[in-house]
Amino acid sequence: MSLLKVLRATDLIRSHSALRWCRHTGSFPRYDYDLVVLGGGSAGLACAKEAVDCGARVLCFDYVKPTPVGTKWGIGGTCVNVGCIPKKLMHQASLLGEAVHEAVAYGWNVDDRNLRPDWRKLVRSVQNHIKSVNWVTRVDLRDKKVEYVNSMGAFVDSHTIMYYPKPGQEGDRRQVTAKYVVVAVGGRPRYPDIPGAMELGITSDDIFSYEREPGRTLVVGAGYVGLECACFLKGLGYDPTVMVRSIVLRGFDRQMSELLAAMMSERGVSFLNTTVPSSVERQSDGRLLVRYLNTTTQTVGSDVFDTVLWAIGRRGLIDDLNLGAAGVKTLNDKIVVDASEATNVPHIFAVGDIIHGRPELTPVAILSGRLLARRLFAGSTQRMDYADVATTVFTPLEYSCVGMSEESAIELHGADNIEVFHGYYKPTEFFIPQKSVRHCYLKAVAEMAGDQRILGLHYIGPVAGEVIQGFAAALKSGLTVKTLLNTVGIHPTTAEEFTRLSITKRSGRDPTPASCCS
Ligand code: FAD
Ligand code: NDP
Repeated sequence: MSLLKVLRATDLIRSHSALRWCRHTGSFPRYDYDLVVLGGGSAGLACAKEAVDCGARVLCFDYVKPTPVGTKWGIGGTCVNVGCIPKKLMHQASLLGEAVHEAVAYGWNVDDRNLRPDWRKLVRSVQNHIKSVNWVTRVDLRDKKVEYVNSMGAFVDSHTIMYYPKPGQEGDRRQVTAKYVVVAVGGRPRYPDIPGAMELGITSDDIFSYEREPGRTLVVGAGYVGLECACFLKGLGYDPTVMVRSIVLRGFDRQMSELLAAMMSERGVSFLNTTVPSSVERQSDGRLLVRYLNTTTQTVGSDVFDTVLWAIGRRGLIDDLNLGAAGVKTLNDKIVVDASEATNVPHIFAVGDIIHGRPELTPVAILSGRLLARRLFAGSTQRMDYADVATTVFTPLEYSCVGMSEESAIELHGADNIEVFHGYYKPTEFFIPQKSVRHCYLKAVAEMAGDQRILGLHYIGPVAGEVIQGFAAALKSGLTVKTLLNTVGIHPTTAEEFTRLSITKRSGRDPTPASCCS
């Protein structure tokens, strides 16, 4: 048997990689790889692919531990498999239900009286799309010559990563060395520490592949995940209740968040305010009995649901990394990094959701991963700018914003130095189906002095993400109220309302428009 045949798979990968490197540089490398990336999600894949483009030898590990109810998925991380993508597809499915009713008002001959979605068909379509993305991702890695191992990686020391090629077969342990290590392991949903939580509840990791219809659903948590899931479930004809521990959308502009909650209530989403769950039990009829405590009135209550969905935030996946062996500092369950994403160990970096104190968003993960690779392997000095990152909450009227909330602007600059321009508006397309315009609202938070530099833009309405994306570039370029009001709108759109913002909160004038075109 030739020597090559007895080499194990990864030894082969490493020797090929080293040989390529020798041919390229004329010297034998000190490490097996220039870069090992732990985590094949948005951040890790972007970093790995960019590093290879810059000429580095890269190995990427990705492994998904199944959820307590057994859901698992392929490469690509949270966004592709259990985050942005399936969420956006379910959001779209729910908007289409609404659109059918609107179509009737517009004269389409559709019988919308018994309109019901086919949940299983929707789940199948969503999962098929995800599987095609998983496949394209693997092909892309192969084409780009990023070496990929479907396994958990953990530190042995600061340059050495160990793994089991067949997870579960702990006898067959391998290890590789790398000049740089990037930790991009992301996070997973938290479960509350109450009886029945893990055995009987599900999370966003399960809902997009859930085989049975969710039915009456308790969504615990009022952050992005809770509100978005409750809304698409409502739009698909189920009956969600959101349990709110304190306030909806902590960290967002308060007025906008409350308006969004009011919009959800108007559409039939129920809220259990200032309430926390205490236990979940399965009844003899198979349904779930949830007991809870109202923390304002100190009264206990209970209700019965078909599904309980925990949306109480996410924990960073640091437990399996053996970070202690590398000496990497953590805070709570996240990794502490400096402005160039370096940990306290200078050749170990972290990007994406695993970083402490940065926005947990896909475009942030991707750009920070890519910029890091360019700094490590292409002599770039450009750092990630985490300021003024735009974001959208995908509820039926979406909420999108960029920059500061009204509260943060006032806290930073003082109320006397801030001017808020605001207005309600009436989307033209809402008139014929007589859709409620009560929550279509936008505002610009600006400096009081000079040309009034805009510090934050907020919009609730149709396709909010599409509207705010362009304004985000303008805001980053120093947009002022003067420029905004000198910009000619595109009529009739909802985005043009930003160019018509003439009423300040301070003036006390009524921000409700009389007509759409004056
Ligand atoms: P991840 O994508 O989580 O990837 C990390 C990968 O590493 C995972 O595959 C993990 O299993 C793997 N891993 C973990 N430990 C190890 C290990 N030791 N070894 C090897 N592999 C390991 N963001 C938006 O911008 N827009 C949205 O609309 C949006 N919607 C969302 C909806 C939901 C329901 C959720 C949960 C999130 C949403 N997000 C959204 C957030 C977005 O998904 C994340 O910010 C993004 O996926 C983070 O990417 P990441 O690479 O840091 O982590
Ligand atoms: P968040 O941290 O945004 O929200 C968690 C919610 O759960 C809060 O309302 C919190 O209440 C509540 N909560 C926390 N602990 C408990 C508990 N023990 N009992 C009851 N309620 C509790 O987390 P999400 O999971 O919603 O989202 C995680 C991140 O994912 C987001 O920050 C975002 O970056 C990303 N994401 C982005 C999306 C997008 O871009 N559209 C969509 C979905 C997720 P309290 O305020 O009282 O702490």
